[in-house]
Amino acid sequence: MWEFDPSPETADPKLKRRYDLFINGAFVAPKSGKYFDSINPANEQKLAEIALAGREDVDAAYAAAQRAFDTTWGRMPGRERAKYLYRIARLLQDRAREFAVAETLDGGKPVKESRDFDVPMCAAHFFYHAGWADKLEYVAPGRRVAPLGVVGQVIPWNFPLLMLAWKLAPALAMGNTVVLKPAETTSITCLKFAEILQDAGLPPGVVNFVTGAGETGAAVLNHPVPAKIAFTGSTEVGKIIMRSLAGTEKKMTLELGGKAANIVFDDAPLDQAVEGIVNGIFFNQGHVCCAGSRLLVHEPVAAAVLAKLKNRIKVLRVGDPMDKNTDIGAINSQAQLQRIQELVKSGTKEGAEMFQPACRLPAKGFYFPPTIFSGVSMSHRIAREEIFGPVLSILTFRTVDEAIEKANNTAYGLSAGVWTDKGSRILKMSVELKAGVVWANTYNKFDPTSPFGGYKESGFGREGGRQGLLDYAKLT
Ligand code: NAP
Ligand code: MG
Repeated sequence: MWEFDPSPETADPKLKRRYDLFINGAFVAPKSGKYFDSINPANEQKLAEIALAGREDVDAAYAAAQRAFDTTWGRMPGRERAKYLYRIARLLQDRAREFAVAETLDGGKPVKESRDFDVPMCAAHFFYHAGWADKLEYVAPGRRVAPLGVVGQVIPWNFPLLMLAWKLAPALAMGNTVVLKPAETTSITCLKFAEILQDAGLPPGVVNFVTGAGETGAAVLNHPVPAKIAFTGSTEVGKIIMRSLAGTEKKMTLELGGKAANIVFDDAPLDQAVEGIVNGIFFNQGHVCCAGSRLLVHEPVAAAVLAKLKNRIKVLRVGDPMDKNTDIGAINSQAQLQRIQELVKSGTKEGAEMFQPACRLPAKGFYFPPTIFSGVSMSHRIAREEIFGPVLSILTFRTVDEAIEKANNTAYGLSAGVWTDKGSRILKMSVELKAGVVWANTYNKFDPTSPFGGYKESGFGREGGRQGLLDYAKLT
């Protein structure tokens, strides 16, 4: 392989030593006085201290959100709210490089992804929803739309800024106010985002950030004030939330796990498909709920696709996420690395054949090499369970019906990919696949105008587009 010279990104992420909670437009210390460390998963070094929010802090955040809804934001004309959303998007663009570096340091993803995907997409979501805020009468023609009130939101660590944008932008455009908890391992860019909200002059209390672990999340979601709960994370926690909210009047949207199939037919452009498969599972270390973690490949081309895939992953660069050449960065946490290692072990034990290219991983930090399993059967754990790491399981099929049957034979239904030259087959597959998103001859394409969300245990409700806005609206 060609060796590239190191190309480190050197922009200053402007981190503070300590981050407080963001409540009622100001940074405030947690009532308990407790803080926890956020580390850089690429080298295990401490980056900053983050405030640990308890019940009283969550109460204060909701009180501020309720006040802001009643006195400013809920009454403001949409065309005025739009100006704030535009301002937020522009301010993020101004600080794009700084935010990309902070996102990579705290979460472990390659800086080229934070720079080219996470930060621009986050800004795009605010621009898109700014465009809606003064046109809300077109969200549901013939009906009156109104905000729900205060909403409680909890997000995961795989796309910290982007998940924040998916949650905040539609809620704010519609006139709701928010209490949001980021994931414990990736709170820094959320709290930096609070600086942007201050600079944009957003009225105090419209957005409040409370940081902490699962207990803080439970306090946010089980609170009496919010009219709606929005959660993105594991199916396991999603089920706990559903149980605890059963019987309440609260609206709820859940975006949970996935076990997507990328389906490659023998008439597909194979080199293009291989690029799509690689992007589908190795993008962001496979820390993607809609990752194409299963490859279903048509038998006549199975051997050719496997050979091409092996060749392709031999040249992926794994290592320091701050290097602009890096394709696969650090796994987000030690706990996540252990989950990946355990599932990969089960793959070998259950009889699948593993391929990993020779690559030298950094001594410090959490890393896992790109991994392909062939000879996988539907009963293997690696074909059924979400791995959330850079691990691809390959199965084969002979007919269209068998491909559909295998792709749908999962508890999840978030996304799928179809690779074929035939338009009619794409249309048939997109109807028959029980997945919220079906990509055709591409993978992992996102746009603020497209609704995203799941079937079955992947959750319900949509984020993005007109449908996503409707999930934050009261219709009369
Ligand atoms: P998780 O436990 O579901 O965490 C998601 C968010 O919920 C985090 O902010 C988390 O806080 C919080 N949380 C945890 N327990 C809670 C509770 N009882 N009530 C309310 N909020 C709670 O997911 P994870 O532990 O980060 O990852 C576990 C698995 O989830 C992964 O292996 C993957 O399969 C899946 N996952 C899916 C997505 C997705 O986009 N669909 C994203 C990430 C992970 P803490 O971060 O402090 O725990
Ligand atoms: Mg971190």
